[in-house]
Amino acid sequence: MKDIIIIGAGPAGLTAAIYAVRAGKSVTVIEKSTFGGQMTFSPKIENYPGFSEISGNELADKMVEQALGLGAEIECAEVTAIAYNKKEKFYTLTTPDGDFEAKSVIIAVGSHHRRLGLEGEEELVGHGISFCAVCDGAFYTGGEIAVIGGGNSAAVEALLLAKIAKKLTIVQNLPDLTCEANTAAELKSMENVEIIYNTVVEEYVSEGGELTGIVVKNTETGDLSKLKVDGIFLAVGMAPATDIFKDIAPIDPYGYLIASDDGDMGCEGVFAAGDCRKKGVRQISTATSDGACAALAACKYVDSL
Ligand SMILES: Cc1cc2nc3c(=O)[nH]c(=O)nc-3n(C[C@H](O)[C@H](O)[C@H](O)COP(=O)(O)OP(=O)(O)OC[C@H]3O[C@@H](n4cnc5c(N)ncnc54)[C@H](O)[C@@H]3O)c2cc1C
Repeated sequence: MKDIIIIGAGPAGLTAAIYAVRAGKSVTVIEKSTFGGQMTFSPKIENYPGFSEISGNELADKMVEQALGLGAEIECAEVTAIAYNKKEKFYTLTTPDGDFEAKSVIIAVGSHHRRLGLEGEEELVGHGISFCAVCDGAFYTGGEIAVIGGGNSAAVEALLLAKIAKKLTIVQNLPDLTCEANTAAELKSMENVEIIYNTVVEEYVSEGGELTGIVVKNTETGDLSKLKVDGIFLAVGMAPATDIFKDIAPIDPYGYLIASDDGDMGCEGVFAAGDCRKKGVRQISTATSDGACAALAACKYVDSL
C-alpha cells in the first residue's frame, strides 16, 4: 500500500508527487493518457515563471523527470472507481490493470475544454485551435480570430481577444449572446467585433497542419459560408472528469470538486488539486500551487493516522 496515490499526471498531480516524495512519503501517480496533461497541447508556453518560452511537452518532460528522479512512481492506467475501507482507513482505486491501495488520495484529474467533435479537431489543437485567450491570445496579435460560443466564458475570451485582433468574429449558435448583458453590450459596441448568430461551425479548413479557416452554417437558412481565420478559440464549456468521485466528494453542478485552497473536501484523506477544483483561474501556475498545497495536506493526514 502507498502512502499517497495521485490521480492525474498534469502539472497539479506531478507537483503534488514532487512535494509528497520530498516529504518522505511513498507515492504513485496514475495517468490514463499523456504525462503532463493539458500542457502537452500547448506548443508554446510563455507565462510559466522561470521559462520565457517553453513547449508544453518540454515542460511536462521536466516535471515528469523531476518527480521520477525524486522517487515517485508513475503508472499508466485509468482510474475507474474509488472505494473507502472506513475501518482500515485506506482507499482502493480500480483500474483495468488492477487495483491500487493508498492511505490518502489526491484527485488531480484536470478538466478539458469541450470540443465540437469535427473531423481533424484534435490534430489542430495548438495549431490554430485554442481554448485560452490568456495563454494563446498573443500568438494571434493583429490577426483574424473567431470565438466559438456566446456564453460568459466565451465573452471573457472575446473581450481579451478583441483588444489584440484585427478582426474578431463571434460564432454563436443561438439568436443572441447568452453572456451577461453589459458584457454583451460592450462586445456589440466594438468596431472590430462581428457577431454571427444562429450559426454553427461545420468544418475546419487547414493547410500544412495549420488552421486557415472554418466553414459555418446558418441554422435557420442552412446557408454555408467560409470564414478565413488565423485562429479560433473554442468556448463551448468545460468538462472536468470527476464523475467517478460523485459518491465520495462534494461536486458543484458543473462537475468541479468543491475544496478549500489546501484541497480539503471534508472527505477523509482525499484531496483535490488543479483544474478539477472549483476556482477562478485555471493555469499551470495555479495547478502547481494546488498540487503543492494538497500534497502537504495529504502528508499531514497520513502522519496523523
Ligand atoms: C491548448 C492549451 C493551452 C494552454 N496553454 C497554457 C499556457 O500557456 N499557460 C498556462 O498557464 N496554462 C495553459 N493551459 C492551461 C493548463 O494547461 C491547465 O490549467 C493545467 O494543465 C491544469 O493542470 P491539472 O494538472 O489540474 O490538469 P490537467 O493538465 O488536465 O491534467 C490532468 C490529468 O489527469 C488525467 N486523468 C483524468 N482522469 C483520469 C483518470 N480517471 N485516471 C487517470 N488519469 C486521469 C488526464 O489524462 C490528465 O493528464 C493551456 C491549456 C490548453 C488546453
